Amino acid sequence: MQITLISDINHNLIPVNNKIRIQGWIKNRRKSKLGITFLDLMDGSSIRSLQIVASDSLNNYPNEILLITTGCSIDVYGTLIFSKRKEQKYEIVAQKIQILGWVDNPHTYPISSKKHTLEYLREVNHLRPRTNLILAVSVVRNILFQSIHSFLFKEKFYWIPTPIITSIDAEGTGEMFSVNVKTEKLNNRNGSKEQFIYEKFFNKESFLTVSGQLTLESYASALSRVYTFGPIFRAENSNTSRHLSEFWMLEIEAAFFDLNKILLFSEKLIKYVFESVINIANLELQWLSDNLNINLLKRIKSAINNKFIVLEYSEAIKILNKNFVHVKENKISFGDDLNSEQERYLVEKHFRNNNIIAIINYPKKIKAFYMRINKDAKTVAAMDIIFPYIGEIIGGSQREERLDYLDKRMIELKLNKKEYWWYRDLRKYGTVPHSGLGIGFERLLMYITGMNNIRDVIPFPRTVNNANF
Ligand code: ATP
Ligand code: MN
Repeated sequence: MQITLISDINHNLIPVNNKIRIQGWIKNRRKSKLGITFLDLMDGSSIRSLQIVASDSLNNYPNEILLITTGCSIDVYGTLIFSKRKEQKYEIVAQKIQILGWVDNPHTYPISSKKHTLEYLREVNHLRPRTNLILAVSVVRNILFQSIHSFLFKEKFYWIPTPIITSIDAEGTGEMFSVNVKTEKLNNRNGSKEQFIYEKFFNKESFLTVSGQLTLESYASALSRVYTFGPIFRAENSNTSRHLSEFWMLEIEAAFFDLNKILLFSEKLIKYVFESVINIANLELQWLSDNLNINLLKRIKSAINNKFIVLEYSEAIKILNKNFVHVKENKISFGDDLNSEQERYLVEKHFRNNNIIAIINYPKKIKAFYMRINKDAKTVAAMDIIFPYIGEIIGGSQREERLDYLDKRMIELKLNKKEYWWYRDLRKYGTVPHSGLGIGFERLLMYITGMNNIRDVIPFPRTVNNANF
């Protein structure tokens, strides 16, 4: 018999009095005195559990049903009816319940039905998807994923998967994991431990990618509108609540776009995907709002309804020096990067409305070599888009399409021109103005879900000193 999903029931797709079969895990068991036990069942399809009514007329009632605990998996056959309880619309009166998997020791089951801390849940990362919290985040994550793809498809962008193994440091920061082959050395005769040696596999040093941008530019120089969306690896030693060693980044590259056009495009994208999440993940957002005590709907709607504020970097420093930095020695000067406290001051305090801000035209010395030099020769056509509560979520720029300017920058930064021969070719053969951006997927997810630590919005977080599971 076909299996029904709890979400289909909750969405009123299954007529009452139908015989149905559902499968899932027990959230909770409650016994009432009258020979009836209530089981709350989850199957991952909905944040709302479904109540199963089991009575002592079931032949395994005393020896199995009464022993069911949180975490057991079961297979239920029964009748869907309207529930008399206010909290739920439907329930199932069971005619048959088969236990698929018991819980070894209910007293030590790591995900008991009580509330757990996020820190604790990271220690039992393999079981934490069983919590409503991680379920809700996973649902929103999935919708965010899908809606990004559908928006870009609608806007006629091609999805170009760029390589994960690369030989180029696209960001020029040297924070890369290297890729090698592990080969076994023969055991030493004196019985000491076996040793491994690590050898290059390719004809040169290679790494896990920190950005797909450069290869994406090759496709943008022919297909015009392209994007890549995959895992990014950064060996940065930043143990913050916003940095992962492995995260997902959406990178977009568009020929014939200048900085202003890519900025407006990013605004359109954000609003589109936020609308999708509100429309599709309403229940999950509600659950997150209630449990984290944040009005997420208000937060997201405010992003949809307000225009991004555009702020020159030079203006940003003026504002900060005037209102935020009170000690003379700590004044920010032109050429300093903004830290996240300063960014958050701008976005949360200065422009009261909690608008999203795009800071543009940064000093060239704090930005990457590929960004286009402005007429003032000091700044580049770059943008960092800052969100309330999180800080930077999007980084983008117009790319330097003029070979002589690009070469000059590479010399200044001591980059090896030969290594970038193919990238320079893109400027030699039919170069065009073009722009692009990168969106940190998990950071965007933090904004939408209200989660404060990036480790809790990716299934298995990798951070400094932690690659467990
Ligand atoms: P930050 O200053 O916060 O480290 P960045 O300037 O290094 O960011 P970019 O290189 O511009 O970031 O990358 C584009 C986007 O990727 C960022 O805006 C951010 O959303 C995301 N991102 C960057 N590094 C990380 C990381 N370690 N973990 C998760 N997301 C990241
Ligand atoms: Mn960084």
